[in-house]
Amino acid sequence: MLKKLVSASCVSALFLGFGVATASAETFVTIGTGGQTGVYYQVGGAICRLVNRGSKDHDIKCTHTTGGSVANINGLRNGDINMGVAQSDWQYHAYNGTAPDKFPDGAYEDLRAVFSVHPEPFTVVARADSGIESFEDLKGKRVNLGNPGSGARATFEVVMDKMGWSTSDFSLAAELKSSEQAAALCDDKIDAIVFTVGHPSGTIKEATTSCESKLINVDNDTIKELAADNDFYAMATIKGGTYRGTDDDVTTFGVGATFVTSTDTSEEVVYEMVKAVFDNFRRFKKMHPAFANLEEANMIKNNLSAPLHPGAIKYYKEQGWL
Ligand code: GLU
Repeated sequence: MLKKLVSASCVSALFLGFGVATASAETFVTIGTGGQTGVYYQVGGAICRLVNRGSKDHDIKCTHTTGGSVANINGLRNGDINMGVAQSDWQYHAYNGTAPDKFPDGAYEDLRAVFSVHPEPFTVVARADSGIESFEDLKGKRVNLGNPGSGARATFEVVMDKMGWSTSDFSLAAELKSSEQAAALCDDKIDAIVFTVGHPSGTIKEATTSCESKLINVDNDTIKELAADNDFYAMATIKGGTYRGTDDDVTTFGVGATFVTSTDTSEEVVYEMVKAVFDNFRRFKKMHPAFANLEEANMIKNNLSAPLHPGAIKYYKEQGWL
């Protein structure tokens, strides 16, 4: 919710339409992110920290919530949040109206891109004692699909469909939130986690250090075709050694995390948010290891299918990037 808190003396004047300047107004911005042990939560936290450092200059106060890509985009649309982190595939489908089961109100033409963030490989972690050696081995096993509303769950549904699988192909199809799945894996309640997330992430670290488990390749012909046929997917590698138990590179496909907003969010607010990140970019990149390889030039063009918000365009033009 974009709430303006104004000093008492201004309130009546403003709402009575006296046109008094809003110099003392505070604007509250809420960013939709993901579960606490994922990377989205860190993205939202990092952006808010940088924005809030400058609150005395621009009067914007930033907070962040959990949710996941699909919930974030729907939250933007119904006005619950002002900005959000979302996978590139779900940004594409929301803007173009190509996933009516996730976005029932049709094409979300007011969706706006701000910048892209880290890559998010489709990541499968299996217990070492589960007998899962390949992606196809998930059939018949206890698998966490992820919570409805998460982009990870929605992307897994696309993959299942493409593989010709349904939830009944698993002996258990769990719907745990991302923050719950590592404990469930290590408590032997499930055999595998499927999570589209940046690396390194707290969830996968927890899953690979609290018990014996490993990452699984997801690179069969069906997956390669899916990646080749859609601009918002690409084959991806998770570097060997990122997690305990997985020394070799892992091949899979993936999406990009993106930062989005809507035309309802003002140019001034988006400009200040973008400025807080890019004026302090070295600091931002150090706020989480998944941000280490980010580059400004790529962030303002890759993985963005909705048009850029005017507040972002203003800053990028000032920098000479557009
Ligand atoms: N890509 C995931 C989703 O949209 C979230 C990953 C994260 O929390 O970092 O559900």
